Amino acid sequence: MPTQVPHCSARKRGSLLITWLLGQLLAGDALAAEKISLQLRWLHQFQFAGYYMAQEKGFYRQAGLDVEIRQGGPGIPKPIDTLLAGQVDFAVANSGVVIARMSGKPIVALAAIMQSSPIVWIVKADSDIYTPQDLIGKRAMLMPAPESTELLITLAREGVDAEQIQIEPTSFNPQDLIDGKTDAYSGYSSNEPFWLKQRNVDYRLINPREYGVNYYNDVLTTREAVLKERPEQVEAFVQASLAGWQYALENIEESVQVIHTRYASNKSIEHLRFEAQELKKLIMPDFIQIGHMNPGRWETIARNYAELGLMKDPIKLDGFIYSRKQPTDNRLLYQVMAGALLALLILAGVALRFAHLTRRLRQEIRLRSQAEAELLNSNLQLETLANTDLLTGQLTRRKFEEVADRELKRAERYGFPLSLVFMDIDHFKWVNDQHGHEVGDLVLSTLALRVKSQLRESESLCRWGGEEFIILMPHVGLEQACAIAEKLRAMLVAQPLVEQIRTTASFGVAQWQPGQDLSALMNYADKMLYRAKQLGRNRVEFYPLAGGLPN
Ligand code: GH3
Ligand code: MG
Ligand code: MG
Repeated sequence: MPTQVPHCSARKRGSLLITWLLGQLLAGDALAAEKISLQLRWLHQFQFAGYYMAQEKGFYRQAGLDVEIRQGGPGIPKPIDTLLAGQVDFAVANSGVVIARMSGKPIVALAAIMQSSPIVWIVKADSDIYTPQDLIGKRAMLMPAPESTELLITLAREGVDAEQIQIEPTSFNPQDLIDGKTDAYSGYSSNEPFWLKQRNVDYRLINPREYGVNYYNDVLTTREAVLKERPEQVEAFVQASLAGWQYALENIEESVQVIHTRYASNKSIEHLRFEAQELKKLIMPDFIQIGHMNPGRWETIARNYAELGLMKDPIKLDGFIYSRKQPTDNRLLYQVMAGALLALLILAGVALRFAHLTRRLRQEIRLRSQAEAELLNSNLQLETLANTDLLTGQLTRRKFEEVADRELKRAERYGFPLSLVFMDIDHFKWVNDQHGHEVGDLVLSTLALRVKSQLRESESLCRWGGEEFIILMPHVGLEQACAIAEKLRAMLVAQPLVEQIRTTASFGVAQWQPGQDLSALMNYADKMLYRAKQLGRNRVEFYPLAGGLPN
């Protein structure tokens, strides 16, 4: 008997079990289980834990389903192709399914298991690659499309032309990174890092999430026809699978043992444990209802694919995102009523039991509203994550552009002044080289806090990238903006950010001119920053200049 998505609380879990119990009582074993199949996207591993646990714990059976779980792997066709060919009823795919949908393939996304994708670039810790820009001139391996999209979009966002990188198709062998056959290996944060750790190879991740690129991954999908012909079965399968995921993430150790024994004996227990911990971070069961999908995020993902020419505008997602059908709830209601009647007729004791169950159902409805409120809250938290730079706690580039556009419009409408300051740490590479990357990180986070403490509430600080920051100052004219920049410069000179390390910074200041857009304003500030660097660093340069712009 399908029921609603189980939620995090034990009470909710209790009620989930009760509703299943109910379902079992009513449907009984009299009905033969329906045979269905699920195609995974890779070899058996913790990545698919929820499905195994739904199987092992009998959730599928209780929902009247007999599920065959097929593993994927090298040489096995893409799950989406298998699904579209009608060889399976369900498939686990990546967010590229939206491309298939937009090209007319009848695919429906049922649930997004990973709220964030694990795709990253992995570089050796002793390399000088810290940011996407640092990949310029280097060799980088890339997964095939559409998985490569997140990495390519990250490059585009960071102003890096992929042509500037020697990109080659991935060998699927991380040994190539160790052997120096490539400088950056594209992989999964949940997988290769463990492999490297075991070989005592220190690594660093370049993670698209830190640059505002955040895709769903491991999306449970079906064909439109399956949904149309067997909506109840689809709902039952989704619910039992999500319950399996809930179980797997709440009982990681048990799930790891089960997977090791029954599915993936070639993967060590330690490897599965590592995978579990990393994937839990991406599934975010404590923040968000497992499987949740937000149409806005799907649209952003689709737009990114369109940007890279993988699909065409306009983006139309009607019918792509599965929404739970009402009949399921009715079914629940009918079965509760029928069950209650039966129980009354048969045994007073059973009747009493149903009274108890009804109370639990009511409780469940209340918990559902609570869950919805929590979901709203967790969506807000996700948004904060996307808007805040992880290292420094300041605005990400994406959020900054949004804020700055708004402020520019206000300045235009009300005619007040506005200035922008570009700030770049001097010889920061040297800090990393001399003291290590961790000290470099400490310098960056301390600098951000110290600068922020000097700014007004109305002024925004953004980490534009690496060691570059931008300050947006609404209601502030050029002279005052220069004075603030000068104060910040002097502050850095007077007091080292980290003991014994003298850090200075250069500043480029520009005042916004009516009619100017954000990129033009930033361009002037950037030119001034360049000038400050040219003139010896640790100084403030500003526009308009008396003598005009330098070349
Ligand atoms: P300049 O005075 O010309 O600005 O010299 P620079 O060394 O500061 O400039 P450059 O832009 O060549 O180097 C910036 C360095 O910042 C290189 C990059 O590896 C490092 N970096 C970028 N992001 C991070 C980060 O998040 N943490 C650390 N520790 N270093 C970073
Ligand atoms: Mg610098
Ligand atoms: Mg720089």
